[in-house]
Amino acid sequence: MESPSYGGIIQKYRACLPVGKGTTVVSLLEGNTPLVCAPRLARWLELPEDALLLKIEGMNPTGSFKDRGMTVAVSKALEAGARGILCASTGNTAASAAAYAARAGLRCAVLLPEGGVAAGKLAAALMHGASVIALRGSFDAALALAQRVAQEDGWTLVNSVNPSRIQGQKTAAFEIIEALGRAPDFQFMPVGNAGNITAYWLGYREWHAALKKGLPKMMGVQAKGAAPLVLGRPVAHPKTVASAIRIGRPASWAAALKAKEESGGMIAAVSDAEILSAWRRLAREEGVFCEPASAAGVAGLIRFARGGGFHRMDASKRKALRIVCILTGHGLKDPDAPAALRFRRRTVDPDLRAVSSALNALK
Ligand SMILES: *Cc1c(COP(=O)(O)O)cnc(C)c1O
Repeated sequence: MESPSYGGIIQKYRACLPVGKGTTVVSLLEGNTPLVCAPRLARWLELPEDALLLKIEGMNPTGSFKDRGMTVAVSKALEAGARGILCASTGNTAASAAAYAARAGLRCAVLLPEGGVAAGKLAAALMHGASVIALRGSFDAALALAQRVAQEDGWTLVNSVNPSRIQGQKTAAFEIIEALGRAPDFQFMPVGNAGNITAYWLGYREWHAALKKGLPKMMGVQAKGAAPLVLGRPVAHPKTVASAIRIGRPASWAAALKAKEESGGMIAAVSDAEILSAWRRLAREEGVFCEPASAAGVAGLIRFARGGGFHRMDASKRKALRIVCILTGHGLKDPDAPAALRFRRRTVDPDLRAVSSALNALK
């Protein structure tokens, strides 16, 4: 039988990835995610209508960009004859690792900060058969422990400190370049453990080295209560509604700063109120439901644009402006998050007049 036209990121980008003939590819056809324009948001920010694009990484098989890294990390773990894979996770890494481990027939163990993981992510890890351990401690404590267990007990660690993760995740930059015909001028994205900003920068630089064309300014965004890269020191008790970036000691700290500096970008912090507002705006005005952490990048864009960040640009450059926001994960995995917005809703009897008057009351 003919193989399907799209076979996942390893099939598509094999030449740029650390896989050989002996690697059995473990794939769920991750990658190839949509790059959707956001004209209403662009207009509101007084940008050209086609300037703003959303990379919808929530469309990956387990609902986040983690799948791009996991297909490479799990394929390599299988090749190396690993005893199993292990990760610390705020949720999406666990869901992804569990799915790819199931696919590979490998054991998977996940260490989660107790109470800090969205319901859909935990549900996925359990459904895929992972051994789930809730830790009375932060993500940072979980990662430090996972690294030690991996060293001592022979599990393969599949957090983004595993270089295969970064290699797989860089393919998102290739896809953006292919869609635009060039790199964007700016890329806004949330930053937690900082693996993803490291991966994108690697992808853009590899492409740049081959073709000598432009590079984006890398605009990393953290939540104010969990902004070690902005403060310049670790945060012992990170706090934010955005659980996926509730991280106080990013593993890829130095690489994230390097991406910022080399690209002439920045790393900024936004408040939870700004994150929630951007999150709701995307859902209501663009029809895109991401998770709160993903909206942090857009909140950073809004802050930058309203602060006049794009004003100093000459007219012709402005006309051709391309800004990409990375929406890292799908909103459906965190069904409890919308409670933060206190939506109104009414319960009525199954009666026409009751329904009509409820509709009018809700406007
Ligand atoms: C993992 C994750 C992040 C943060 O990515 P890092 O590589 O840790 O910086 C952001 N958003 C979502 C939805 C995630 O799952």
